[in-house]
Amino acid sequence: CFCQLQGTIDDCSCNVDTVDYYNNVKIYPRLKSLLVKDYFRYYKVNLRRQCPFWADDSKCAMRFCHVEYCEENSIPPGLKGETNEMSHKYLKDAEQMTNCYEDNDHNRELGYLNTSISDKTYSDIQRWSNYDEAQDYFCILDDHQEDAEYVDLLLNPERYTGYKGESAHRIWRSIYLENCFQSHSDKPKSPQSPFIPYKDMMAGNGVCLEERAFYRMVSGLHSSINIHLCANYLLSENQKTLDFVTPTGVWGTNLDEFERRFSPASTDGEGPHWLRNLYFAYLIEMRALAKVAPYLRNEEFYTGVEKDDKEVRVAIKDLLNVIESFPSHFNESVMFNGGTTSIKLKHEFREKFLNISKIMDCVGCDKCRLWGKLQTQGMGTALKILFSGKFDEQKFSPNTNKPNSFKLKRTEIVALLNAFGRLSTSIHELESFRNRV
Ligand code: FAD
Repeated sequence: CFCQLQGTIDDCSCNVDTVDYYNNVKIYPRLKSLLVKDYFRYYKVNLRRQCPFWADDSKCAMRFCHVEYCEENSIPPGLKGETNEMSHKYLKDAEQMTNCYEDNDHNRELGYLNTSISDKTYSDIQRWSNYDEAQDYFCILDDHQEDAEYVDLLLNPERYTGYKGESAHRIWRSIYLENCFQSHSDKPKSPQSPFIPYKDMMAGNGVCLEERAFYRMVSGLHSSINIHLCANYLLSENQKTLDFVTPTGVWGTNLDEFERRFSPASTDGEGPHWLRNLYFAYLIEMRALAKVAPYLRNEEFYTGVEKDDKEVRVAIKDLLNVIESFPSHFNESVMFNGGTTSIKLKHEFREKFLNISKIMDCVGCDKCRLWGKLQTQGMGTALKILFSGKFDEQKFSPNTNKPNSFKLKRTEIVALLNAFGRLSTSIHELESFRNRV
């Protein structure tokens, strides 16, 4: 079967079989039970932001694009800002929320830095530190904007929605166009063909590791989204027999759709490479989790319901132990380590990823937008952990707590774990496609 991948994953020293075994046997079942916990299932997001790049497409009117918001009383008290005396940390985090990166106007911030240093006040310093902190972010966080609302992810599973055609293609095209790096490559790729063939990506045509990694993460995310829609396809709106029946219809695996999207015959040989990119994206996020494990072990996972919070802390520690025992993690130190060019490259990499998170506001289907935002925020959080330079696992000790001012907001933690959960589920779903093809 074309989806029976073999050998090592390019740019990593890791074998496909090792990932399959670790994921399907150890990681996927743990994530499955962890991500239904309240801390992870309620995700605050602004789905009403205007597309900053072009006039909004007419919003998808299909009923499967609809997002269910939460009833106020279903949200755990701690997430709504109610605290108890036990939760000092929550209060501390709430104070720090004001430091978090909103979609700031950087030119204004930079202009501000040119003003006289002698004028500085407490709020000036605060703004400087905000600007400084903004440089760590690889994606837009909009959870504390006025229009942000809690969404129950369990009520809104990622699956086939019917979103397709020019609107969906424009999004993917724009995302892949972000892959044109100027700092390194002297041959910018043609804007007419953003879907870069694998052979060009790997054949050293002026494409450096960082540029390739960027492409492979995006392509891995694209594969993951498309695998989910094939695995949770609307088979029939009426029939009441096959797979999984809900009041909205029958949902289940669509093998033909999977073959159309990934078989070499229908993708000019590219499909299996796209599937391998899924593994690459998975390894990046898993490495970020391994790196940030000491930080996460100290997290309270506060929802205001102590019994649940304790269960989450135990489950997280168990998951992190498994992740840390993975034998061949991605080695992020091989990226951005070439002096001045690398600094520029990293800056460009970050800007481009930020742009991808903004493009998510142009997705014309609310449910796709929700999961697109969550998954790019998760990936952006992984990049922040790996490349912002703020988190040094060697220096981290529970006694000094959060060295180098590194911190993660709840939204980032929720996005990272759920995004990793999506990639993990895709790898698990591939296994069942393999058994059925
Ligand atoms: P597309 O998937 O639109 O791909 C366009 C082109 O990209 C292909 O022709 C191919 O040349 C290339 N390509 C395809 N896959 C890869 C890859 N992995 N790596 C590199 N290049 C590739 N639909 C749903 O039903 N449910 C969802 O939840 C959903 N979420 C979405 C989220 C986002 C952010 C976006 C942009 C779209 C989402 N969609 C969703 C739509 C879905 O991804 C497809 O765009 C749609 O089904 C149309 O598919 P297509 O066959 O035309 O090719």
